[in-house]
Amino acid sequence: GSSSLLSAVARRLEGKVALITGGASGIGECTAKLFCNHGAKVLIADIQDELAHSVCKHLGPNSASFVHCDVTDESDVRNAVDTAITKYGKLDIMYNNAGIMETAKTNILDIDKAEFEKVLGVNVMGSFLGTKHAARVMVPAGRGSIIITASISAIMGGATPHAYTCSKHAIVGLTRNLAVDLGRWGIRVNCVSPYVVPTPMSKAFLGVNKDGAIDVYSNLKGAVLKPEDVAEAVLYLGSDDSKYVSGHNLVVDGGYSIV
Ligand code: NAD
Repeated sequence: GSSSLLSAVARRLEGKVALITGGASGIGECTAKLFCNHGAKVLIADIQDELAHSVCKHLGPNSASFVHCDVTDESDVRNAVDTAITKYGKLDIMYNNAGIMETAKTNILDIDKAEFEKVLGVNVMGSFLGTKHAARVMVPAGRGSIIITASISAIMGGATPHAYTCSKHAIVGLTRNLAVDLGRWGIRVNCVSPYVVPTPMSKAFLGVNKDGAIDVYSNLKGAVLKPEDVAEAVLYLGSDDSKYVSGHNLVVDGGYSIV
């Protein structure tokens, strides 16, 4: 009947396979959940094995599985993509979401070179490696959607530490270049740029009030951005609903950055 037709339409990733880096926590975990709810098979790639296993258990063994993967290690990334193919037969969506931030908002005079490199290593090099190996299997397939998590720090200065801001700006450039490079094989590449979302990362950076919440300015009638709101944007970019969208930076900030 019409209700089953509606629910079929509502499952926007039926039959799709997605690989999500940093899927054990925060935005990645929430996106894994939403993707599964929309009918996708999801492979979570992360360095937090125990956490990832419990996320997969919650999502159900038929929908989600885990592969240990440090995104800065090319053999790990190669193995993660190969695991998606072995387990599910293909890769439709690659979500390069793993990211880290410097532990302190340090002055340029105090920044440690190794820490700067570490942030660029995960955020930029990790996105490069994830895209390279996803493209390896998507090019022969002649289709695919690649998404990278940037941040409003990709389009603003001073909100976050130097290496983090630098890495997120780099992701927008990488996204644009990759969209041109991979477009000729029918592969789309986009990034998503959230404002502050309450996750372990943002809580560590900004601190929490007595209710365990982050106090942030909101442009949108006081509404606080949730991981679910970011996941909805990633769902759009991953699904065929965005089939003509490529090289785009989808800002999810309630209008914060335009004020
Ligand atoms: P989070 O810390 O909850 O999740 C990040 C995940 O990435 C963790 O599970 C972690 O284990 C994993 N990870 C870290 N280094 C890794 C590595 N080398 N290899 C594989 N996995 C690794 O943080 P989050 O807030 O969900 O962050 C997800 C993404 O969103 C990041 O790219 C972050 O920069 C971005 N972002 C977050 C916010 C925010 O306010 N939380 C805002 C804008 C952008």
